[in-house]
Amino acid sequence: MTSQNSTSTIVKDFNGVKVHTFLAPYEAAANATHIIETENKLVLIDTHFLTPLAQAFKGYALSLNKPIDRIFISHGHPDHYFGLASAFSEYAAFTLQGIDKVIAEWGPQMIKNQKPMFGDLIPNEVVVPKHTLMPNTEEVIDGLTYQYELVEGAESEAQLLIKLPQIGVIIAQDLVYSGVHLWLGMGWFDKWISELENVLKADGYNYILAGHGLPCGKDEVMNCIYYLKIAKELYSENPTAEEFKTQLLAKYPYRESPMMFDMYLGFLFGQMSSH
Ligand SMILES: [Zn+2]
Repeated sequence: MTSQNSTSTIVKDFNGVKVHTFLAPYEAAANATHIIETENKLVLIDTHFLTPLAQAFKGYALSLNKPIDRIFISHGHPDHYFGLASAFSEYAAFTLQGIDKVIAEWGPQMIKNQKPMFGDLIPNEVVVPKHTLMPNTEEVIDGLTYQYELVEGAESEAQLLIKLPQIGVIIAQDLVYSGVHLWLGMGWFDKWISELENVLKADGYNYILAGHGLPCGKDEVMNCIYYLKIAKELYSENPTAEEFKTQLLAKYPYRESPMMFDMYLGFLFGQMSSH
């Protein structure tokens, strides 16, 4: 088994606050979910797309033998919230105000679209986070401060970004793709780049949790900016979807999860809509 077809876990200890990352196989888009483990509690971030991975992530969380305080859902793409229904429906789920509505509105259609391909590997219904947060607020959970921010018009219409100032961690989720191809379905290259520049400017934050791929530092944020600039330039030359994929793959032969192209080309080239 390799990281292509098996999960990976990475644990980083910040003076007793442990940050766990549970990564899906690269063949399955390397979805990255995380656990913030403080003295008495666990806080989870995102829940995977495929039911077996959501259940494996839950198994890992339960093995830590601390109560799960809550789960944050970063945004309204199904690879982040399908697992709420398949493994975590009994826990309190939180997201930014507005993202709950996106999940409620789009979720059932997402299930319908994906069922023919994935069958029992995805849930039959959507669980919508019941708790909502306001951007630019913060709270302390088990001694650790969580700062909530809204990122708009980057990888998705709206997403939650969380800063943990005491340990210099940014939970960036799909604002950052680490070592894997980016999902470019919306084509909002410039806004995405400017949001990544905000991450670069955040002094004192050097451990960044991506939504796909391994935790990274600011070099990888830079790599995402370069990738978006190259993709924007290729896209501006009006290629076909196939030409775009071939050219971007040629520029980045060593980035993982090339299946990402098959997940977004239909959106970027206009046959399907997303949010
Ligand atoms: Zn994603």
